[in-house]
Amino acid sequence: MNIILFGPPGAGKGTQSENIVKTFNLFKISTGDLLRSEIKKKTNLGKKIKPLIDNGLFVSDDIINDLISKILSDKKYSNRIIFDGYPRNLSQAKRLTSLLDNFNVKISCVLNLQADKETIIKRITGRQICSKCKLIFNEYFHPANKENHNCDSKYLIKRTDDNEKTIANRFDDYIEKTLPILDFYRELNLLREINGMSNMNEIFKEIRDIIASLEG
Ligand code: AMP
Repeated sequence: MNIILFGPPGAGKGTQSENIVKTFNLFKISTGDLLRSEIKKKTNLGKKIKPLIDNGLFVSDDIINDLISKILSDKKYSNRIIFDGYPRNLSQAKRLTSLLDNFNVKISCVLNLQADKETIIKRITGRQICSKCKLIFNEYFHPANKENHNCDSKYLIKRTDDNEKTIANRFDDYIEKTLPILDFYRELNLLREINGMSNMNEIFKEIRDIIASLEG
């Protein structure tokens, strides 16, 4: 099965996709993570995209399609993907359908994590990621402590694009470019709505039941 986790920046896609990976036999493919890894490794691609990401602007479809093609041609991931933060516009969504067709696989469902702007801003400005174990925390909603985090607090970092100015760009892009994808998936009868504003465990329970029903 292949699942798309859809929603505005800060809706909790990263956290929930980690939960899904731990429970189901799936791989998380986050285009944001793939791009940040290029920046960290200081590759030519990383140098080119850093200013875009730091300003909350989209990376070109060609770059994204290239990254996704490479992933899909790796047998390890075959029909076992949870997409996080991709597709981001209608052209990427259509391209994904044709790429998957080449491998005779399909999207099983699109989980739409809904959250309002106020919640998103709090989630993004409070977001902390452990650079060692990669767990995601939030200063306001889900602070790291001795019970939920084994690494030293010095490893807790903020993403360079998690600031109020960048959030505004990212949210506008989401409304203008990403949201229209929902109609595309609604017509294909793949869309499932999730209340992304309840607490993390409740959200995951809802997601888990949907995925389990797809498996059965
Ligand atoms: P994310 O980790 O999903 O919040 O993505 C962080 C940033 O990476 C975004 O603000 C964009 O600059 C870029 N990005 C991630 N995924 C995509 C995508 N599918 N298309 C275009 N840009 C992307």
